[in-house]
Amino acid sequence: MSAETLFPVKPPVLVPVVNQPRKFPVNRIFCVGRNYMAHAAEMGVSVDKTTQSPFYFLKDASAYVPSGSAIPYPLKTQNYHHEIELVLAIGKAGVNIKAEHAFDYIYGYACGLDMTRRDVQLAARDQGKPWDTGKNFAQSAVMSDIIPAEDIQVDVNAVNIELRVNGQTTQSSNTQYFIWNIAEIIEDLSTYYELQPGDLIFTGTPEGVGPVISGDLLEGSVQGVAEIKLHIR
Ligand code: MN
Repeated sequence: MSAETLFPVKPPVLVPVVNQPRKFPVNRIFCVGRNYMAHAAEMGVSVDKTTQSPFYFLKDASAYVPSGSAIPYPLKTQNYHHEIELVLAIGKAGVNIKAEHAFDYIYGYACGLDMTRRDVQLAARDQGKPWDTGKNFAQSAVMSDIIPAEDIQVDVNAVNIELRVNGQTTQSSNTQYFIWNIAEIIEDLSTYYELQPGDLIFTGTPEGVGPVISGDLLEGSVQGVAEIKLHIR
């Protein structure tokens, strides 16, 4: 143990990269709220892009858990939800990034699950309180390995995204239905924060979110990008 610290310093959080021996060190995990119209509607909210901007919440890097894991049902919820999402992995620093340059800042992509304590989140939302306890908790940021952008052959702004629970499709959409597309998200988020290499951005989930319970198997994909799998113990 170091003589400098009272407790052992935690090691950095590292996400494997496909076809690359070096890993992606996670800095921050940003998440976009309500980025598909049909999901906003199922949450009882309408979004008007002409008058509204995207909004964000964060998860700790330590909430990362790799695809293929078996994780316990979390504390303090009775309505534990899946949200399948396309994840952006930022590879270079930038602030006030213009949409036309946004893709220069993306190192790669992944498939993610923004696991959510929906009961806790909605109680907070309805009281005008922060979402942290509903969104940012142990093992709530599930991710596939990262695929470098140069290795992706599809248009990430128009790919199918889907999730199956025990083989039954629950979420099925396409990133063409983003309210704010990838470039617009990077442009807007980078007005609030200087993006850093190692930042991850969960881009929001389509409709069809729902509860999972112990014993469930979640399998999802962003077509042409990555697949993801998660067991709930
Ligand atoms: Mn989400």
